[in-house]
Amino acid sequence: MSAVESPRKIEVFPVIGLEVHAQLLTRSKIFCGCPVTVGAPPNSATCPVCLGFPGTLPVLNREAVTLALRLALAAGATLHRESQFARKNYFYPDLPKGYQISQYDRPFSTGGSIAIDTPEGEKAIRLVRIHLEEDAGKLLHDTPYDDVPENVSLVDWNRAGVPLVEIVGEPDLRSAEEAASYLTELRRLVRYTGVCDGDMEKGSLRCDANVSVRTSPTAPLGTRVEIKNVNSIRFVAKAIEHEIERQAQSLARGEAIVQETRLWDEKGGRTVSMRSKEEAHDYRYFPEPDLGLLVLDEKWIAEARGALPELPRRRRERLATAHGLAPQDADTLVSARELADYYERVVAAGVPGRLAANWVTGEALRWMKERRVSTEQALSFSVSPERLAGLLKLVESGEISAASGKDVLVAMLDSSTEAAAIVAEKGLGRMRDTGALEAAVAEIVAGNPSQVALFKSGKTQTFGWFVGQVMKKTGGRADPAAVREALTRALESAGP
Ligand SMILES: [Zn+2]
Repeated sequence: MSAVESPRKIEVFPVIGLEVHAQLLTRSKIFCGCPVTVGAPPNSATCPVCLGFPGTLPVLNREAVTLALRLALAAGATLHRESQFARKNYFYPDLPKGYQISQYDRPFSTGGSIAIDTPEGEKAIRLVRIHLEEDAGKLLHDTPYDDVPENVSLVDWNRAGVPLVEIVGEPDLRSAEEAASYLTELRRLVRYTGVCDGDMEKGSLRCDANVSVRTSPTAPLGTRVEIKNVNSIRFVAKAIEHEIERQAQSLARGEAIVQETRLWDEKGGRTVSMRSKEEAHDYRYFPEPDLGLLVLDEKWIAEARGALPELPRRRRERLATAHGLAPQDADTLVSARELADYYERVVAAGVPGRLAANWVTGEALRWMKERRVSTEQALSFSVSPERLAGLLKLVESGEISAASGKDVLVAMLDSSTEAAAIVAEKGLGRMRDTGALEAAVAEIVAGNPSQVALFKSGKTQTFGWFVGQVMKKTGGRADPAAVREALTRALESAGP
């Protein structure tokens, strides 16, 4: 035992709320015509508006609003016919204007919810609001340039003015797992609706977590700590897990929780203090005088609603019910819209739903991963849904075994040949040559006199062993019914 006293344990009940920023998939920025770019030279996608030059005026990007509306509708939020932009004032080198244009007390959307699965069943996590805002630039502290001294930071304003929605959740989450489920559902939703690419690693989906603990489930909320900018769902769960433990230990030692912002240190597996947390009044919000009210009319809302696809949870329910799928399989299939489309095309080509689900979630997904085809790229996988269907029909009819089917799929990966042609070429199809089957049976029977004797002595379960041997000898290609028939005859006429 170490001399350090281990912290006393107390039971705590966590309360978690997430604030998620999603970058909208528009071609241009939210208040100017600059392109939204990936990997463009630093500061090349900028103009006087997004650089905050005096005298310039913002003009709202209609497409950004349409996408934001789509997400709000998908979350069942209440849309406000009139909303207002506000200036959030703070100084930071990545913010050229000295303020960020956001929405504050009059967001375009309030309420709504995201449903998650918990061991106790479905749970709705309520949303406070969804609002529109612009992104800030990016600071580069570890500069990639040889001629820049190490202690110098650079700024790239290409991201300044990129449109975002902030999705503010109520503190309805009670564990790190629930937080991870919520993020998974939210990411699915923004991807299904085409609102955001959902890429957390590249920062197009960013999550801040507010975590507090209390000593009973009904006690008043504890002091919350914000964990900022964690770049994967797994890390968000780990960071929250760690933060709950840290707060529990502080309480056990009789220390007060300090309201602050902390960062997740992945290498150290802990959160570290960054700064004391600002309150809303620190930002001196006031209405943006350069933009009028955002007014939504019925036509605009109808347009956004019309672009909504079938949402993931609904699709999961429909697929599970229509095809009798296991919940886990249905969930895997709808994890990406394109993968669900892939599956439905296999079924549409005439393959029974469960067989298709087994193969898509099994072999097809395995090869997609192997070939670095993401589930969002499922429809461009080298084996198209229709070609996979061709293969599965051969498996279903018993023309080839499932094991042969897997080999045929491998052969299909790098060719455009249809499954039936590969089966014919490789001679994998069902054995139609009854002479060859008879020969195989005769050989097995002749080669195993002791097993024959056993069978003859009344140990009829030996029959199964013979069937297995013949199937093995014929590479699984023989028709099992024909094998049983041929074996029965051969064993009857066998000596002694
Ligand atoms: Zn610009």
